[in-house]
Formats: sequence, C-alpha cells, structure tokens
Amino acid sequence: MKPVLVRPESEKWCHRVAKEMKGRFAWQGLSVDVPADWSLGAIGGDAQEGSFRLDGLDMPRLLVKWSRSDGPVNLGAKIEDYLKQLQKKSKKAKYEFSYERNTHLIGKRGHHRSGVECYHWEADVQSHGAGWQCEDCGRVILAEVMGPLEEDTERLARQVLGSLEDHGGDWIEWSLYELRSEIPAEFEMTDHKFMSALLELDFTNDTERLGIIRWGLAATVLKGTPLSAWAEQKVLPRLKHYETELSEMSYRGHDAIAITGEKTQIADRLRRLGRRLANKDYADTALCRLWHCTDTNRIFYVECQLDQDKADLAEEVFSRVHCHELPETNTRGNK
Ligand SMILES: [Zn+2]
Ligand SMILES: [Zn+2]
Repeated sequence: MKPVLVRPESEKWCHRVAKEMKGRFAWQGLSVDVPADWSLGAIGGDAQEGSFRLDGLDMPRLLVKWSRSDGPVNLGAKIEDYLKQLQKKSKKAKYEFSYERNTHLIGKRGHHRSGVECYHWEADVQSHGAGWQCEDCGRVILAEVMGPLEEDTERLARQVLGSLEDHGGDWIEWSLYELRSEIPAEFEMTDHKFMSALLELDFTNDTERLGIIRWGLAATVLKGTPLSAWAEQKVLPRLKHYETELSEMSYRGHDAIAITGEKTQIADRLRRLGRRLANKDYADTALCRLWHCTDTNRIFYVECQLDQDKADLAEEVFSRVHCHELPETNTRGNK
C-alpha cells in the first residue's frame, strides 16, 4: 500500500524554506539554489558526464546527474531503468517501493528543453525528480530532491529543480561552500581540493592556467604572519617558472598582495615565439592576487597564468571571485 503523505503546516514550512534558500551550488555549468544547510556529499565526473549529491543535515537531499549526448535520447526509458534499479535495491533492503511517472513537477520554464519528464518515488524516504535533454548544450539531466516521508518534498523539489540551470554562458559559475566564482568557459576544471581549511579549484586552457584557493580561519593560520610571508610560503612555489614580484595593495578594503610574474628564460621565449607562429597563446605572464577578507576571516588567492596579450582578463577574473559581498542568487525558482 502506498504511504499517505502527511503535510504538517506545509505553507508555513515552504515559506521558511524560501527564505533559507541561500545556499548556492554551481559546478561544470550546472547551477542551483538550495537551502543554506545543504552541503556537498559526493561529486564526480567532468563537463561531459558526471554527478553531484548535496546532503542536508539529516539525509541526502539533491542528486543531479548529467551526460552529454550528440543525438536525442529516450528519456522515458532512462527514467524507467533508473526507477527499476531503485526498486531492486529497495527490495534487497526490504523497503516497500512505489513510483509514479509523468508527475508534472516542473515544465520547460522558458528553457530549450526536450522531453521534460517528471517522476516520484517512495521507499524509506521519498523523492521528486525530473529528467530532460537541453537543446542548447545537448546534456541529458536527471535531478531529484529527496526528503523524509512526512515532509512536503514536492514543493521543495519544485523550488530547487525550478532554479536548476544546466549550462552557463561565456563565463561558467563555480560555487560551493560559500565560494562564488566565475571562470571563462574555455577553461576546463583540471583539479580540485576540498579540505576543511582549504578549498582549491584549478582550471586549464591549453598552456594557460587559472587557480582559486581559499583558506579558512585566516586569523588563526596567519597568527600575525604578514600576508607577504604567507604569499612567499604558500603561493610562490606554484609560480616557480616565473620571475616574480610582490607588492602590497588594498583590495575591496582588505590587505592584499599583488603578484606579477614573467617567464624570462630563453627557452620560454623561444616557446612563445613558436606558439606565436602557430597562432596560439602561450602562458608567459602570471598575474595573481592574494587578500585577507577580514569580514569572512578567509584568505583568498586568485592566480592567472595567461598569454601576455590577455593580461586584461586577470582583473576580470579577480572581480568574479567574491569574498564578503556575494552577488544575488538566481531567484527565478524561488518565486
Ligand atoms: Zn543546457
Ligand atoms: Zn571580503
């Protein structure tokens, strides 16, 4: 028998969720507004194919999977397969499993999406999800919001999945753990580190590199160490191919260090010349900024290793890595 959903004070609850929808997660061109207490539980893959899961304090809350497809896919069959797999798992775990398809949870909402199909399942927990193929980026998306059986997860799912965007523009947003940043679309993520005291994202476009590092508990880790000494110790080893110069500055009202670097070896000059002849960029210039955001007690470092002709891009990248003042989130799905 299908369990009956109890919806305690759902109106009030939903209003509270809307107000708390201050969390933001953006990865590989996908972005979504979520309640502030949802945090990253699992992540994998790349721009072509991957998935992430955000967990609430109590349980997994949002699962998003994507894969790029050149042609149209049979979304209905994909969703049916997925639900059958879950059914099998539930049977093993001895949970009663029921599901429903074509639930009309969300529509196309002005997006170029084909075959939007929504579903709902219930076992020990419940889930409301949707799948679609984006006609702009070709990605096939499967996304669902989970919740306890007694919760109005449907409304929450409508809100969260309604805010989900599946591709970016010329700049791709990368946001997690209260970090908000944007990186030019031609740069691919090549490495990331999520540690309690350090968050690092690294991107590559041929020879060019962009990097963002954020350290937490700044006052404690600095312990009176001047920011320039921190830069020398933590940052300069990353720029060993460059002849670097450090200068103190103020950035957004914070103490900051500007680092400029140049590749001066003969071999580098020859390499640049070779790349020039092939009409290709060569990263021979490093423009980096390190600052101590006292409002958030964090140290931010943004590194741009670029072709000297693209040096103007660095300032734009710095400006798109936010510290204490965060940009407005996409509230389209929260209305
Ligand atoms: Zn898309
Ligand atoms: Zn700041």
